[in-house]
Amino acid sequence: MGTRVVVVGAGVIGLATARALARRGAAVVVLDASPDAREASWAAGGILGIGSESAADGPLFRLAHAAMQRWPGVVAELERTTHVPLAFRTTGTLLVALDEGEVAPLEARGEFHRSAGLDSRMLSGDEARRVERRVGPAVRAALHVPEARLDNRALWRALETACRRELVETRRGTAALGLLRRGERVVGVRTAAGDVEADAVVVAAGVWSSDLTAATGVTLPLVPVKGQMVRVAAPDGFLGRIVKRGPAYLVPQDGHGIVIGTTAEEVGLDRHLDPDVLRRLQATAAGLVPEVEGLPRTEAWAGFRPRLPDLLPAIGPVGGSPGLVLATGHFRNGILLCEWTGELAARAALGDVDPSLAAVSPDRFRRA
Ligand SMILES: Cc1cc2nc3c(=O)[nH]c(=O)nc-3n(C[C@H](O)[C@H](O)[C@H](O)COP(=O)(O)OP(=O)(O)OC[C@H]3O[C@@H](n4cnc5c(N)ncnc54)[C@H](O)[C@@H]3O)c2cc1C
Repeated sequence: MGTRVVVVGAGVIGLATARALARRGAAVVVLDASPDAREASWAAGGILGIGSESAADGPLFRLAHAAMQRWPGVVAELERTTHVPLAFRTTGTLLVALDEGEVAPLEARGEFHRSAGLDSRMLSGDEARRVERRVGPAVRAALHVPEARLDNRALWRALETACRRELVETRRGTAALGLLRRGERVVGVRTAAGDVEADAVVVAAGVWSSDLTAATGVTLPLVPVKGQMVRVAAPDGFLGRIVKRGPAYLVPQDGHGIVIGTTAEEVGLDRHLDPDVLRRLQATAAGLVPEVEGLPRTEAWAGFRPRLPDLLPAIGPVGGSPGLVLATGHFRNGILLCEWTGELAARAALGDVDPSLAAVSPDRFRRA
């Protein structure tokens, strides 16, 4: 039998890690506390926002860049093997400016993108409307960023199917209650249904990851950042590109209308949807694309982004606790980063720690 690994969390990070482990011959069990595991990975907007999320070089941009290189091949392979269409589109994002003061930061962002090999281009308001005819008259300029999007819920289902094909065992409704330790070594997890022993444990439990790591001396100051979201009905082709301004965005999802986001609220794990906030989200979106004003709302939901203080994820082994690997804290970029994180975390769990993980090591949160 191969190395036994328990992965805690069946969001996209846990599932991508489990898939990568199983493909390397490990015997993998994935545990999820919830019966349906519909947390951040289900709540997301599906933007693979390498450029809309990055205005400067740094560890996040480098991770995102490596992740983005892999997506076309990963999508093709997942679709071929799971038959789940992922609605992967590479038509890009229009980051729009409504007043003169917003133009210079977009120009600076475009300059950085081009210096990093990402061919972002400034457009005038009229050029933006020629590219995307429903963009409204209030838009003065836009940065066209060549990035991508996909249907994150379909991705999550595809990863689950891929895990099943690789003989990963998934146990829903089974919370990891604590880590099993033998000396310093982590040798499994405790659950209400009994202990699950393993050679390595990967904690990919999103905003809840800190509950499990505290006993190892790693205090993850994870903050759940709530995002409320709305979906409106629209025919395919209503928008060809993501349209975004600050936290406000519209993401076309073929077959599923337009996703409108979002808020960034620090209110703990309160899932309440505020009707006024939902109305405002649609009204703000209509300031960018006026025709969304009258579109019927078909869904609203909220999710929690796992944010660490330096806005970077925590991926890799935990010093002083052999057998323990973390893959959490992906904040606004967990969909973009999930597949590459899964590769890196799986390799780390099997003893092969990529040098790029130094910048996102969980040990930055380890007590001396
Ligand atoms: C509104 C919103 C919009 C977003 N938009 C985007 C976007 O457009 N692009 C992008 O790249 N990212 C986006 N994100 C961020 C992205 O969704 C997250 O970074 C990513 O989904 C995190 O994945 P995860 O697997 O770590 O966490 P989750 O999906 O939250 O999964 C964690 C899982 O762990 C389980 N769990 C918790 N505790 C335990 C335990 N003790 N035992 C067992 N299981 C446990 C939970 O039940 C859950 O299923 C968005 C997030 C939100 C909320």
